Amino acid sequence: MNRQVCPFHADEDIPGTLLNDDGAYTFTCDRSTGHPTPGHHTWMHAPEPVDMPELTELAQELRLDVELPAAIALYPGRWVEYGIVEAAYASANAHDFARLVERYSHTAIAPTQYSASAFIAATLGRLSRTGHVLFHTGPATGRWRYNGQISWWALPPEPSWEDRTSWVDLDRAMDYVPGSTE
Ligand SMILES: [Zn+2]
Repeated sequence: MNRQVCPFHADEDIPGTLLNDDGAYTFTCDRSTGHPTPGHHTWMHAPEPVDMPELTELAQELRLDVELPAAIALYPGRWVEYGIVEAAYASANAHDFARLVERYSHTAIAPTQYSASAFIAATLGRLSRTGHVLFHTGPATGRWRYNGQISWWALPPEPSWEDRTSWVDLDRAMDYVPGSTE
């Protein structure tokens, strides 16, 4: 059983729920107070690349703790599906995103064991643990549909789950991925 301690309640040892076949787990602390946002606290933990146990090093170099929230901020007051965050980040940081794709490839190029998407999602997961970004489990749409369920993201204060934009809503091509075959 995959368990994590709530970062705001050291005595809350939370069992994880599997998000999808990528091996990401979600955690919810049900305590109603003491979290950065009112009510319970939900975060996501995704597998980290085997070649780099310290995910934070590259993530810090690319300033993902700033750039990923900036990508989400393009959709104020809304929940957005994972692919939207990725596309917005890639558009604003084409050179850095190309580095990630060169290193980890992307499912838009070919099936891959680990991917730039897995790396970015894992970094978002880290940010969600501390409440810097908000996580919600939701449906995967369009070309991400193979995941079944996927991560959705927002910035505090927490938007209503009714206010959300899916990948299909965006109707975005995958041409932001260098070498995409889609
Ligand atoms: Zn808690």
